[in-house]
Amino acid sequence: MLVDAYKRPVKDLRISVTDRCNFRCSYCMPLDEYEWIDKKEILTFEEITRLAKLAIEFGVEKIRLTGGEPLVRQDLPLLVEKLSALKGLKDLCLTTNGALLSERIQALKQSGLRRVNISIDTLDAEKFKRMTKRGDLNKVLEGIFAAKRAGLAPIKLNAVVDRGVNDDDIIPLVEFSREHGFAMRFIEYMDVGNSNNWTSAKLVPKKEIIENIHARYPLREIGRDQGSAPSVDYEFVDGRGDIGVIASVTEPFCGSCTRLRLTADGKIVTCLFSQLGHDVKGLMRGGATDDEVRTFLSSIWRKRTDRYSDERLTALNSATYDPKSHRKIEMISLGG
Ligand code: SAM
Ligand code: SF4
Ligand code: SF4
Repeated sequence: MLVDAYKRPVKDLRISVTDRCNFRCSYCMPLDEYEWIDKKEILTFEEITRLAKLAIEFGVEKIRLTGGEPLVRQDLPLLVEKLSALKGLKDLCLTTNGALLSERIQALKQSGLRRVNISIDTLDAEKFKRMTKRGDLNKVLEGIFAAKRAGLAPIKLNAVVDRGVNDDDIIPLVEFSREHGFAMRFIEYMDVGNSNNWTSAKLVPKKEIIENIHARYPLREIGRDQGSAPSVDYEFVDGRGDIGVIASVTEPFCGSCTRLRLTADGKIVTCLFSQLGHDVKGLMRGGATDDEVRTFLSSIWRKRTDRYSDERLTALNSATYDPKSHRKIEMISLGG
């Protein structure tokens, strides 16, 4: 089995299919313009599928398609079809802002997509517009219900909690998800990328999120799926569903991080907070054989020592953390 320097196997592959997005969420991609990846530098579906196949040989069981906004990539169902046909892949999921989902859901389903995570930070249409700059809440709700009608399951809803902005939306989102059978996942606001001006004051810690929900709808902890998932899950004591919290900042899970990332322009990245990627596209376009690509991938994973969130917690606890001291790859190009 392929393991990294801390004996962590590789089990998940997150593929960013584009760095573009039709939203400009304040916590992710607040600027109007970025240095967009040139079209010819974007991996083709054939290149992505080739890499996914090799990653599965090394132990990858789950693939998540993300971005940027994956649904702005033309013909995404063709990629879903290719990936869902790969032997050994146990789970293929899409993370989307949902704006284009109602239009694309039938094609995605026919191509083999079985489940989806949709981001929704508030049910207040005006606030939704403010948080996403370009988003229309109604389109996202249409997308969520279209996915439900198409039979995708489970449908997980993601909300980043930004203090003073949408912390008062936690209970309405919980009620919405309980009513319609969705699984709500709250995400601690992280210092991803270089432009969201993150400070620890914006963070609502997991403990506070859980106490808030538990006071209204009592919860019982289930734990992490398979012991290693980013989300710590809880079920409602009344049996009406479950929620989860991804507490990358206050309860980091680097020790069980099995995630490999592929950027839209063909770089292999071993941590969400990496400063550099490893160019596998150049290798492939230079005519490398599968064996050469295998050697490249395995040598990167073997040397992997990332534990950024563990280190950040230590620095936060000693008040020495400066998020700007570390320039990262933007989340839109490496896949959240
Ligand atoms: N555009 C898609 C979407 O919004 O679902 C997929 C890409 S987005 C980068 C993937 C996930 O990252 C979303 O659930 C989003 O809420 C989350 N995310 C973005 N910025 C974040 C931040 N600063 N802290 C925590 N999560 C963040
Ligand atoms: Fe776009 Fe998703 Fe980032 Fe929002 S979180 S700006 S929808 S990539
Ligand atoms: Fe994995 Fe890096 Fe996140 Fe730690 S900080 S859990 S190593 S992606």
